[in-house]
Amino acid sequence: MINILDLSQEELKNWLQDNNEKAFRAEQVFNWIYKGQWDFKEMKNVNTSAIDKLTANFYIGIPKVLEKLYSKDGTIKLLIALSDGNVIETVIMKYKHGNSICVSTQVGCRMGCRFCASTLGGRIRDLTAGEILSQILLAEVIISGKISNVVLMGSGEPLDNFSNVIKFIELVNSPKGLNIGQRHITLSTCGLVPKIYELADKKLQITLAISLHASTDEKRKEMMPIANRYSINEILQACKYYTDKTNRRITFEYALVKGSNDTKEDAYKLCDLLKGTLSHVNLIPINEVTEREYQRSEDRAILEFYNILMSKGIETTIRREMGSDINAACGQLRRSYIDATR
Ligand code: SAH
Repeated sequence: MINILDLSQEELKNWLQDNNEKAFRAEQVFNWIYKGQWDFKEMKNVNTSAIDKLTANFYIGIPKVLEKLYSKDGTIKLLIALSDGNVIETVIMKYKHGNSICVSTQVGCRMGCRFCASTLGGRIRDLTAGEILSQILLAEVIISGKISNVVLMGSGEPLDNFSNVIKFIELVNSPKGLNIGQRHITLSTCGLVPKIYELADKKLQITLAISLHASTDEKRKEMMPIANRYSINEILQACKYYTDKTNRRITFEYALVKGSNDTKEDAYKLCDLLKGTLSHVNLIPINEVTEREYQRSEDRAILEFYNILMSKGIETTIRREMGSDINAACGQLRRSYIDATR
């Protein structure tokens, strides 16, 4: 059986034609699915023979909700089970300008960042494009509303699952699909340099976010094993290439860890690194993870860091901590689920 969500409308059209059905049924079927009708038999305007063929060959891969947590700030965190029983998390964030979703791209992660909970059990498997998409379809039904922004910042390293992630972006962006503009999609990576070049060559208009987290290779290596493969310099060169190809401003994420990367000196070094680049810095007060020893920076240090960057003309924001009352830090909910069921 094939997950129909892994198909583009074009692909379903072709399949229907190959199976002696009308191509326009593809649009009807996807319209139902996008509206939250996940049973082929209930798709009233579709003819019976097409329904029978679809039922025999496809399933609609909407994950099962295991847990739904509501934060005081409106953030909703979902723990969901995929068709093979693997468990992932998805976070829905409500902003004045619309609803955002943070989707997972892999079950677990193999990048090994030392502050992150998603990577504790390694990578189990990649998600398919349809499985990434299904998180949005589920979210829209849960909030009875539209998702307008997508961030690929849940569990997993998106560029380590390149082709599925690209297909997902195409599906989400398609006018016949969810029709979410590329500029409303942000892909966050720990910095897989060759894949950044490959992404740039696709010339998409998505926002690329780099998890930098340190301003020297030495410090970065302490936090992120990937820093042993690629230097900050190589990442910045790849970012320059990305900007040249796409004209898009890069976001640098910097998770502030008490006494580790949050000093004034770190801030000044970061300014030197980013001087003259088309960029934006997003400071993330680190979410403390039970299994990890990293501690959140003091508010005073965060503000000082912010002020230094701003004084050097680097556009900076401090990420609002949403859902901190509901285990919203990367991979934490899944971890507690795995621990509880072990
Ligand atoms: N693998 C990708 C995307 C997933 S992580 C990446 O590395 O960018 C999304 C963001 O959350 C990254 O910037 C990541 O470094 C950060 N992150 C992970 N664990 C965190 C924690 N405990 N506190 C704060 N940020 C965290």
